[in-house]
Amino acid sequence: MNADLISAALRGCDMARAGRIRSRAARTIRGMRRPFIGGNWKMNTDHASARSLAHAIAEGTGADWAADVVVFPPFPYLLPVAEAIAGSPVALGAQDLSGEVNGARTGEVSAEMLRDVGASWVIVGHSERRHTIGESEALIADKLSMALGSGLRAVLCVGETRAERDAGKAHDIIAAQLRSALAAIDAAAMDDVVIAYEPVWAIGTGITAQPADAGEAHREIRSALAARYDARLASGVRVVYGGSLVPATAKSIFAVDGVDGGLVGGASLKAHDFLALCTAATVGVAAS
Ligand code: PEP
Repeated sequence: MNADLISAALRGCDMARAGRIRSRAARTIRGMRRPFIGGNWKMNTDHASARSLAHAIAEGTGADWAADVVVFPPFPYLLPVAEAIAGSPVALGAQDLSGEVNGARTGEVSAEMLRDVGASWVIVGHSERRHTIGESEALIADKLSMALGSGLRAVLCVGETRAERDAGKAHDIIAAQLRSALAAIDAAAMDDVVIAYEPVWAIGTGITAQPADAGEAHREIRSALAARYDARLASGVRVVYGGSLVPATAKSIFAVDGVDGGLVGGASLKAHDFLALCTAATVGVAAS
């Protein structure tokens, strides 16, 4: 979609639709899916190191950066990180949100609060929240609806455990996670969703999935999206890989057809490594 078309389309349409048109345009470069790379800092950094990491990432990404680069700091550092990345192409995301609008929910953080401090993205369904904290499929679905209904974009994480993979159930598990999370999400809202395939056995373990396995899972995800919506939508949604991505393993993963970038944990805490992954995603995904 070129700039003239976008301007023409934006004239006379409401703000929500304008947002979707911009979002679709931002998502595609010359008809391709725009690479996405997210840095999930988890429960790491402190005030000073969060600021300096954010500064370094912002400085390393030029204005014409051809990928969506998003950092996901811990809640207390959202504001200082927002300040540090202001004016750069780096966007701000949160690692979680409440499924409720507001009220008596001690310790929870609402979608509106996240938007209020400058976040435009949020992670939903991360395996550490599914398996360590015990979030249910129903709660994940509520959180995704809340995020999208509040104007946030979401990275929806899906992926199987080692035991599920060994039992030959990986594809069923991923399909079931997608069915549940997307049951109430209409096709138009999918413009604001990135799916992250994150095999649980690869997260934080130093074991990156084999490119062929990642490719197969990505194909399964697109066929589940086609079954839920249609083939056209399935081919437009960005699907990224996450699980022990480091610069040395990224090249082969990003070269896999259908992999549109990555969600990065450990390696996102080092600006040099994260920027190398951003570059690899931009170059590798565009070439695949
Ligand atoms: C993650 O937490 O989403 C992740 C992929 O972590 P890591 O890169 O450390 O495996």
